[in-house]
Amino acid sequence: MKIHEYQAKELFKGFNIPVPEGYVAFSKQKALDNIKKFKTFPIVVKAQIHAGGRGKGGGVKLASSEKQAIQFVDEILGMTLVTHQTGPEGKKVKKLLIEAGQDIKKELYLSLLVDRETAKIVIMASREGGMDIEEVAAKTPEKIIKVYVDPMMGISGYQLREIAFGLNLPKNTLKEFGTMLKGFYDLFIQKDCSMVEINPLILTSDDRVLALDAKVDFDSNALGRHKELMELRDLDEEDPLEVEASKFNLNYINLDGNIGNIVNGAGLAMATMDIIKNAGAEPANFMDVGGGATAEMVENAFKIILSDKKVKAVLINIFGGILRCDIFAQGIVKAAKKTGIDIPVIVRMEGTNVDQGKEILKNSNLKLTSARDLADAAQKVAAVVK
Ligand code: GDP
Ligand code: MN
Repeated sequence: MKIHEYQAKELFKGFNIPVPEGYVAFSKQKALDNIKKFKTFPIVVKAQIHAGGRGKGGGVKLASSEKQAIQFVDEILGMTLVTHQTGPEGKKVKKLLIEAGQDIKKELYLSLLVDRETAKIVIMASREGGMDIEEVAAKTPEKIIKVYVDPMMGISGYQLREIAFGLNLPKNTLKEFGTMLKGFYDLFIQKDCSMVEINPLILTSDDRVLALDAKVDFDSNALGRHKELMELRDLDEEDPLEVEASKFNLNYINLDGNIGNIVNGAGLAMATMDIIKNAGAEPANFMDVGGGATAEMVENAFKIILSDKKVKAVLINIFGGILRCDIFAQGIVKAAKKTGIDIPVIVRMEGTNVDQGKEILKNSNLKLTSARDLADAAQKVAAVVK
């Protein structure tokens, strides 16, 4: 689960990570009130959306006067901000952070991630902050320092120093940086994060370190033990179909292709996506109704996929185990009768009560194409979208 920069910075404060003075606003009036709180300029007007690259898209602006700050509020609040992470449709800006402008000597990069390969937490740091870190990693990987922390041991003094020296920090900031990095690590562990990133981490002209930007992603599987974090969720920023699916306990992820899928079980869902790609087509989503799905869940899953405008055909791939094929077929028929289907739907079904399931589909008079097996299903669905 992602949160906004202003929320991440609030969290940072509780973990000894210094951030600029700043105030969030959800309305124009509040933004203007916030501007009044600053006696010195420049101040920064920052769009709050769950995507990076805001600066390049015109969502972060440095104002040298009150008048200019007001002008930036007018420009940014309500704008559709397009960045490399929002997709071409962009994201409407509904929240603004107004911050004290900083005197930047150096822009650095710092992040924490879970590294699955080593089963450790990796600290990544670079002197090349501010810009696209993916580009730095691709073109000049030697400019990224990686330090692996064993979660059972925690972060050690020599690791702190390795990062600090790697960043070429001046001597008089080392102590402050050490405290900050420890806090950064504690935040990561205590809040069950999957990623925390500060880009840029700045060195100010008077040699202080400060988080100028803040990105936090929590492990959604751990949210059950962090009730306080659930309050930070902003449904406005999430994919509406994914939000809808989560209401019905469906494991759904929206993708870029045009073939909708309904599958039971994550492994089967991945195999189905592979075979669709193998047949030369692209999946529009990942939809796992789960092993123990009810007819109602199947109905909702089907409805969600049919409401996705980019879906040009649907592949239903079910292995009837705990979810019996007849129950599944009932859900499909019910949903299809309610919403109507005007795109090709290919069904591959195997397992418990498969004959009853096929019978239900056949007697429904719905226009469904049945497939013999997985490969046949993938070829049929790829053929109809071509
Ligand atoms: P992002 O583009 O979404 O990553 O947004 P950031 O919060 O990282 O801001 C983008 C850029 O704006 C930063 O890399 C800085 O160069 C610049 N910026 C942000 N705040 C300040 C500030 O207080 N002073 C100055 N001079 N530049 C700033
Ligand atoms: Mn940034």
